[in-house]
Amino acid sequence: MTVAGGEARLLLGGPIASEIRLAVAEDVEAYRKRTGRSPGLAIVIVGRDAPSMVYLQQILKSCEAVGIASRLVEIEGEATERLVTDAIAALNADPTVNGIIVQMPLPPSIRLRAVIDAIDPAKDIDGIHPLNAGLLRLGYDGFLPATAHAAVEILRRSGIEIEGKRAVVVGRSAVVGMPAAFLLVRENATVTVCHSRTRDLEHHVRDAEILVVAAGRPGLITGSMLSPGVVVVDVGINVVGDTIVGDVDFESARHVASAITPVPRGVGPITNALLLAHLTRAAYAQEQAQPAATSSDARRPPAPDPSVTAAGGRAAPTRGHR
Ligand code: NAD
Repeated sequence: MTVAGGEARLLLGGPIASEIRLAVAEDVEAYRKRTGRSPGLAIVIVGRDAPSMVYLQQILKSCEAVGIASRLVEIEGEATERLVTDAIAALNADPTVNGIIVQMPLPPSIRLRAVIDAIDPAKDIDGIHPLNAGLLRLGYDGFLPATAHAAVEILRRSGIEIEGKRAVVVGRSAVVGMPAAFLLVRENATVTVCHSRTRDLEHHVRDAEILVVAAGRPGLITGSMLSPGVVVVDVGINVVGDTIVGDVDFESARHVASAITPVPRGVGPITNALLLAHLTRAAYAQEQAQPAATSSDARRPPAPDPSVTAAGGRAAPTRGHR
């Protein structure tokens, strides 16, 4: 376990993402045979924020590769909250749309909560609606935020033991830090959540056997803060000059950690693949729930997620990506 002075094992997202995408492509094909159409994803765009456009283009490309029908829904002109929520309501009612993603960040004039609340929880494939957040909090199966799901999935699929470990999550956002912490609790880790007001971050970080960092601060965590043998999942994506770096100083950390995710090529590719998996799962769940699934008042939770069981046990890894 201890690799002080050695080299950490690299936890690469690419091979795991390929495995997930392969399973998704099979599910998509089976869905198409059954229903005569492809599962559909809609991405709502409010203003063209350059970095998130790159991310969204990647999602569109991945959808095409696995046979998911995806489209951008652009709010033209001056976007008002009403225009955005009306567009979402139309997508909720559209039976060819199985999943909805809204580009973030929203312009400051539009309330995040109003937009999130407008999404049908059954189509909320990135787990941002309060119903899905609540299901996760209570240990039931709903849609998980894809990035938090990816941070834990990379550990599980790399064969890293989570149960009983001291896990520290740096970051408490609703979309990454907190859901990652809840997922780790589900996997029976003992979890500490650190944030911008945490006193003596280093003390907590040094205690970690598993460290998940999602702070959006390049170089926040250095090798000298880590315990030898720690497993590090770096969720951060920061543009520094013309490179992308994580929140962990990779060069110093890799000589102390036993395993570490690089940035890029770590968590990111899995996030993208899991979104496709969530979308396919939504399509199947809506098909099974016909005709209620096509109604915008169909405020029901999605079907169980086999990849992370409610009891915290592990599902079979073969098809457990959904
Ligand atoms: P956020 O800004 O919403 O939250 C950041 C969190 O970090 C906050 O809870 C804050 O309290 C904490 N924090 C900030 N400075 C800190 C410090 N000095 N010490 C301790 N805690 C501190 O960000 P987010 O949306 O949760 O995203 C976090 C990071 O993950 C960003 O770099 C983002 O780009 C990245 N991200 C990655 C993916 C992916 O697929 N890998 C997806 C989404 C976001």
